[in-house]
Amino acid sequence: MPTLRRERGDTRSAEGGTWRALETGPVMSDAVAPAVVKEIPPKAVDLSAWYTAVCLKAELVSYSPVRGCIVLRPYGFGLWENLQKHLDASFKATGHENAYFPLFIPESLLMKEAEHVEGFSPEVAWVTRGGSEELTEPLAIRPTSEVIIGTMYAQWIESYRDLPILINQWANVVRWEKATRPFLRTMEFLWQEGHTAHASAHEAREETMQMLEVYRRFAEDVAAVPVYAGVKSESERFPGAVETFSIEALMPDGRALQSATSHDLGQNFAKAYDITFADADQRIKHVYTTSWGMSWRMLGGLIMTHGDDRGLRIPPKMAPLEVVFVPIVRSGDDRAVAVCRSAAEELTKAGMRVRVDTRDQQPGWKYSEWDLRGVPIRVDVGPRDVDAGTAVIVRRDRGKGESGQKTTVAVDVLARTIPGLLEEIQQSLYDQAKTFLESHTPRAGDRESFLAMCRDRAGMIDIAWCSRAVCEAAVKAETGATTRNLRPLATSDEATCVACGEPAKVRAYFAQSY
Ligand SMILES: [Zn+2]
Repeated sequence: MPTLRRERGDTRSAEGGTWRALETGPVMSDAVAPAVVKEIPPKAVDLSAWYTAVCLKAELVSYSPVRGCIVLRPYGFGLWENLQKHLDASFKATGHENAYFPLFIPESLLMKEAEHVEGFSPEVAWVTRGGSEELTEPLAIRPTSEVIIGTMYAQWIESYRDLPILINQWANVVRWEKATRPFLRTMEFLWQEGHTAHASAHEAREETMQMLEVYRRFAEDVAAVPVYAGVKSESERFPGAVETFSIEALMPDGRALQSATSHDLGQNFAKAYDITFADADQRIKHVYTTSWGMSWRMLGGLIMTHGDDRGLRIPPKMAPLEVVFVPIVRSGDDRAVAVCRSAAEELTKAGMRVRVDTRDQQPGWKYSEWDLRGVPIRVDVGPRDVDAGTAVIVRRDRGKGESGQKTTVAVDVLARTIPGLLEEIQQSLYDQAKTFLESHTPRAGDRESFLAMCRDRAGMIDIAWCSRAVCEAAVKAETGATTRNLRPLATSDEATCVACGEPAKVRAYFAQSY
């Protein structure tokens, strides 16, 4: 039975939402959230159950006593830190600075931009009491910060000399949610939000496109998740934006995952919040603003894209631990421990994230544990290896028993061998995901096959499209699929919309989405 429920994944920035029909199942409600997971179900059979089990069992997250909120455990936080590290470096390299703004937004401020308010009001959490005192004006807990940041920009900007302002904020935001799904759907989540102000429309658009490209590069080169970058349709646009751009990844169940958005806000927020400047010609003008965000939902995309039946497979650049040593101690012979420690020290000095697992557990238990946690490389050293001066390198990107999964090398070449191997693993995970995306991007040529593909979640279904909201709504009502993003029509493309027969204006990827 299809049910209606709030579905995340549309355009209110990286974590927007709209009401839509879809089947029940994939969302884990708090009531049935397991505290302990014994077995990981096969990924291909039930992606949703697999996903939740892996997130819990690999100790990325725990459900919390607070409905809709998860606890990010140290291993999960390690993933988030690597996302932060890489993105933050890209933000700084493109001239941005970090700052921090208040969590609370007075109601009167939030109400100034009509479309923005309408878009967000169903999911805003309000503080109406402070201690024993009823507040005269309720405070919204930020669902996003255009409002508070725009208000400050109005105070800071006087002349064209103050522009551009290029600021990013790392923060938590809250959007009222009934269901919980680690990283993909939580009431409170971590993200970054960039907010910039410019003297011209042209400059604001360049900024919007630049940040979209920063996100694309992060997703593909760091998270090893291939994406399609493009512009959102009108109905999928951020409330208050002139144009919204996104990167969209394809999950193994054929659903798209919006992984980041970049918005050209034009002068809409500048006019609502009175952000003006004296231009070089002495005239007072409104600025042009942008905003852009990526949240921890990107981590959900990484987990679903790369994981297998044994658990996580983390691309090396994102891995909290890149290499784990497992010394094998037999009948009191613990020489392997010293060998592992010394090799690990060398790798650490070379800048790698390394651990030696000396816990009192059987080697087999440790192998499964590090497989589950998706560490890219495991190095096993047993007493016989110590005698021979060797170690066994085990790659997590290859299947059990697959050729090249295990290699025996001399211990003293580990530090020289492993960096190249990590690069190879990073590339191989990307290549596997890219092959999946490309083989699941069908071009539909006629209406019937198009609708069937939408219903069957055939992937990113690529059609010539009329760009009319009414056509998109009809497809959504029939199949649950919406446009993910759009790109220009080529001269060789169909002249008419595959979905409705009206003249085609763009090419669109349609898919059901998270
Ligand atoms: Zn159409």
